[in-house]
Amino acid sequence: MGLDPKRTVRELKELRALTATEDGAQRVAWTDVWLTSRTWFESKLHGLPVEHHFDAAGNRWVTLQGASDRALLLGSHLDSVPNGGWLDGSLGVLAALEVLRRIASEYKGRPPVTIRLVDFADEEGARFGRSLLGSSAFAGTHSVEADRVRTDKDGIRMDAALRRCGVEMDEFPEARIEQKNAAAYLELHIEQGPVLENFMMPLGVVLGTKGVERHAITFHGQEAHSGATPMKVRRDALAAAAKLALEIRSIAGRHPDAVCTIGSLKTFPGIVTAVVGRAEATLDQRDLSATVLAQMYRDARDASERFAKEEKCTVEWSRIWNIEPIQFHPELIKRCREAIAETAGAAHQLPSGPLHDAAEVSRAGIPTVMMFVQSIGGISHNKIEDTSEDHLEMAVRAFDRLANKTMAWIQSA
Ligand SMILES: [Zn+2]
Repeated sequence: MGLDPKRTVRELKELRALTATEDGAQRVAWTDVWLTSRTWFESKLHGLPVEHHFDAAGNRWVTLQGASDRALLLGSHLDSVPNGGWLDGSLGVLAALEVLRRIASEYKGRPPVTIRLVDFADEEGARFGRSLLGSSAFAGTHSVEADRVRTDKDGIRMDAALRRCGVEMDEFPEARIEQKNAAAYLELHIEQGPVLENFMMPLGVVLGTKGVERHAITFHGQEAHSGATPMKVRRDALAAAAKLALEIRSIAGRHPDAVCTIGSLKTFPGIVTAVVGRAEATLDQRDLSATVLAQMYRDARDASERFAKEEKCTVEWSRIWNIEPIQFHPELIKRCREAIAETAGAAHQLPSGPLHDAAEVSRAGIPTVMMFVQSIGGISHNKIEDTSEDHLEMAVRAFDRLANKTMAWIQSA
């Protein structure tokens, strides 16, 4: 029995029928609907020559033992955001299942290397605000203490919600044992953005996930009466902030894939009859290169100081959050490009703005690459999220080719 990409599309629809309402997918991690989706997935394993279990962080592992213990990992996540789409995460898990079935059948249950499918728990962080939960436990980058006291919108603590699903947060560090013998990790995911559609490319090689620098920037000027204060003597904090809001476009524009966003701006006292004495802005900068990120941060800081001076104001910065960029493995990027070219004719290369489980796996030192398939209209985390069935089937075929090439790479290493 060979690869059957149409079966993947059928199963995605089956899962949607089981776990979506008219508002979209409801597979929020640590809820009953999510548990239903996991039970449904388990039913798909009947008859396959595999061992399966949950690790200490609630990630599901399905193992097809090979002649070598060195393992090719294939995975993604079944959980969704509330009112989410039918493909985010679930495509990657079900495509991995189809590839595992094909390999099990082709090698009569004993492939040359071990194949392991993983369904990571709580990629989205939709209920407790902690994304990449299961994969960070696997990678050993999770800090249990910071997370256990998180609560959902009903005040339920994270550790209690996980316990109800049979997961003890204290045991999270044990999930790292699943790293044993891991030789490579592959993940197929929808793009969730408009780039592939704009280039009219069905599939893309993901070069890595962008790093993020996120800062709060406050300009201090002088509150003053809007009628009594001549223009020349004003110290208008909003004027300085506004100059920066425009300047970040050219700061990002010096680098091909960089983005900079001032997403929030508050003015004080914020009334119609006063010059703004204080303006509080947030800045979010992203790029795949740590050097570019550092450069953009310096440029924005220098610009803010220049504009503060021009407006007779002062400026202060404080970091809200940051994460370093993750570059995927060059050998696997090459094989992913070949697999796409052989399936679809041409391969586009792009970085991922959103984070993915693959970033955590890569941080654990396991060679990793992701493949993206086009998202119609670039929309995701929404019930209208969609990809054409032709593209879904093509993605499963290209991902299967990538798995073959990666198995050969693991054997040759
Ligand atoms: Zn996802």
